[in-house]
Amino acid sequence: MYRIPFNVPPYAGNEMENLRIACEINHKISGDGPFTKKCRAWFEEKTGTPEFLLTTSGTDALELAAMLTGVKPGDEVIMPSYTFCSTANAFVLRGAVPVFVDIRPDTMNIDEKKIEDAITEKTRVIVPVHYAGVACEMDTILDIAKRHHLMVVEDAAQGVMARYKGQYLGTIGDIGCYSFHETKNYSMGEGGATLIKDHALGEEAEILREKGTNRAQFFRGQIDKYTWVNYGSSFLPGELNAAYLYAQLEKADLINETRLARWNRYYEELTPLAEEGRIELAYIPKECQHNAHMFYIKTKDLEERQRLIAYLKEKEILAVFHYIPLHSSPAGMRFGRFHGEDVYTTKESERLLRLPMYYSLTEDNVDEVCERIKEFYKAN
Ligand SMILES: *Cc1c(COP(=O)(O)O)cnc(C)c1O
Repeated sequence: MYRIPFNVPPYAGNEMENLRIACEINHKISGDGPFTKKCRAWFEEKTGTPEFLLTTSGTDALELAAMLTGVKPGDEVIMPSYTFCSTANAFVLRGAVPVFVDIRPDTMNIDEKKIEDAITEKTRVIVPVHYAGVACEMDTILDIAKRHHLMVVEDAAQGVMARYKGQYLGTIGDIGCYSFHETKNYSMGEGGATLIKDHALGEEAEILREKGTNRAQFFRGQIDKYTWVNYGSSFLPGELNAAYLYAQLEKADLINETRLARWNRYYEELTPLAEEGRIELAYIPKECQHNAHMFYIKTKDLEERQRLIAYLKEKEILAVFHYIPLHSSPAGMRFGRFHGEDVYTTKESERLLRLPMYYSLTEDNVDEVCERIKEFYKAN
C-alpha cells in the first residue's frame, strides 16, 4: 500500500444513496433506467451535445463510434501513436488500418501540422486524442477534415468537462467519446459515453447500442413493433453504474475545481525546478480550459525517470508512466503503420512521469510529493 497512491476513484458522497434508490425505489438495475436518463439529460444540458449515449466503457464508446463512421476493411484512420490501445482497437476491429502520426512535444497531442501529409485516398477518419484533458488544435483539424471529406472522432476519454475555445471536448467533431473508468475524473467503475452531433447518426447509434434493435424508439412510442433491424451489440451499462456516476455529476463543478486547485498547486511548487531546467511542466495553450485530469512532469531522460519513480516509491508515493507508443507494440506493428518520422512520440513518452492526482488528494499530499521531488533533484 502507498501512503499517497497514484489514483483513488472519485466518491462524491451520494453514491450509496443513489444505489439504494435504484434497488429499492426504482426497481431498475438493467440499462436505460431513470439514472441513465438523468446522466444523459445532465450531459446534453451541460455540453450542448445533441445525443449522449452512456456506454459500458470508453473502449465501447470508441467501438460504437467506429461502427458509426462506417469504415470498411482497408480504410485508413489517422491517430497519434501516443495513446491508449482502445483508440486503435475500435477501428482495427472494423478491419481499418491505424495510421500513426507524431505528437507535439508541448501538449503530447497529435501534431496537427503532420496530419495532412498522412492522408491518402483510403483515409476516412481523424481521431484526435485530447491528452490529459488538454484539447488538440481542433480548428486546424476540423479544417483538414472538411477539405478532405473526413470524419472526426474525438477520443475525449480524459477530457470530460474540459473545453476548447469554450466548447466542451467531445462535442467538437462528428462524434466524441468519454470514459468513466475509475481512473478518470468522473467514474462509474467501468463506463463511458458516445456523443453524436448528427441526429440521424444518433438514431443509428441507439440501434447499434441495443443489440441492433429499435427498442429505444419503441419505448418512446415512435414505432409499434420492437424488432431486430441491424447488426449491433450491447453497449448500455446497468443502472447501478449510472447511479454511481450521477452522484458525481451533481458535484461536477466542485470535483473539477478541486482537481484544478491541486493541479495549480503542483504547478506553482514545481515551477522553480522547471526554471532551473531540471524538469519540464505541461503547456496549456490559451484556447484550452483543461480539467486537471493528469499532472505530469518530464524528466531529463528515461534513466532519470526510473530513478525518480524508485525514490518516490521508497517514500510510499506512487508515480507512474504509460503508453508504450502503439507503433512499437506487437499489435501496433501488426495492424498499423507510422507515417513520417517519430521525432517526439518515443522520446517524449520516455520522459513523462504522472504524479498522484485524484479528487480526494489533499493540499498536504501535493506539498509532500513536491518536497520529495525537490529532495531528489537536490541529491542528484
Ligand atoms: C481511458 C482511456 C480510454 C478507454 O476507456 P475505458 O473506459 O478504460 O475503456 C480510451 N482512450 C483514452 C485516451 C483513455 O485515456
